[in-house]
Amino acid sequence: MLGVYIHIPFCERKCLYCAFSSFVNKKDEGESYLSHLLKEINNFENKNNEEVDSIYIGGGTPSLLELEELDRIFKKLHEKFKISFDCEISIECNPNSLTKEKLLGYKSLGINRLSIGVQSLNDEDLKFIARLHNRAMAIDAVKKAKECGFENINCDLLIGLKNANTEDFLNQLKTLLDLGVTHISAYMLQVEDGTPLQNLVKQNADLLPSDDECVEIYKKATKYLQKYGINKYEISNFALKGYECKHNLKYWSGENYIGFGLSAHSYIDGIRFANSNNFKDYYAQKLALKEKLTTKQLIEEHIMLGLRCCLGVDLDYLKSLNYNLEKNENLIYFLEKNIIYRENNRIFLNQDYYGINNYVIIKLMP
Ligand code: SF4
Repeated sequence: MLGVYIHIPFCERKCLYCAFSSFVNKKDEGESYLSHLLKEINNFENKNNEEVDSIYIGGGTPSLLELEELDRIFKKLHEKFKISFDCEISIECNPNSLTKEKLLGYKSLGINRLSIGVQSLNDEDLKFIARLHNRAMAIDAVKKAKECGFENINCDLLIGLKNANTEDFLNQLKTLLDLGVTHISAYMLQVEDGTPLQNLVKQNADLLPSDDECVEIYKKATKYLQKYGINKYEISNFALKGYECKHNLKYWSGENYIGFGLSAHSYIDGIRFANSNNFKDYYAQKLALKEKLTTKQLIEEHIMLGLRCCLGVDLDYLKSLNYNLEKNENLIYFLEKNIIYRENNRIFLNQDYYGINNYVIIKLMP
């Protein structure tokens, strides 16, 4: 089954930390972008005639789209693809652009999963990172989503903001879980090159909490969520059983997915390609990347992705690529120490060691 990603690269304002492919020029560029996007979808050759079982509309801020614009995208998708009856259809939304009218419109388009960019419920922090919403608006957005009948709701949160210590962060989780959220993505705030946040951190190295403080919040949050039955299934992703994001699992399990839009990435039958991240080249259909993965890359990706999430690493698959990981001394050591555990032909990283996943992954590489 195929996954489809659609990138909407527009935002109302850039957040302090944002290095994503997003721009504040929807008014000028929106229509032109949409017509190229529809053309790109139209031109795609679905050689294997694969059915689509996940659609993810990400950005940017897809909730900036008018319903009529979204409707045009969905019409094209239905025209081009056979979409399975149980297809997971997600859209990323920001609290300030999410209205009841839009939510009801999403329902009628078949959207069944919302990913809300809450980032924090601490007003000071929200102001600091230049978000356009406050705590009350974020809470209201989740309430409205529930009222409109959405069951499958993710909220994004950032760990490592100025004012959210462990207690505050756990309280934020409690508020969201009490509202009926079924999925939490908790990302560590990254100081990316070229962002305003990077300049601030250069001027004041103590601006943000230390790595140790962030790890502490992450560990406590993991335990806290577990008590609510919300389990970690990837380093940054936590869900009630059955609410794991199908689309993300597709990325991590090496299944085929096609990305449409500016800077969107795709992976089809061992070939990875990416669209350009500037409008001019994207409109001219110039790819930023096209590569056939080597056997070594396939092995590395499988180990890296498998150990970061609940899917684990398939030892037989690695053998089929001529890599016998069972003979690896580091693996034998990790198994002895219960850092890694084995079920049949698969190995998994013990959840207590997710914090050192990079170290473990490197040790198991060919
Ligand atoms: S809403 Fe998301 S994509 Fe847009 S500027 Fe903020 S972080 Fe970046």
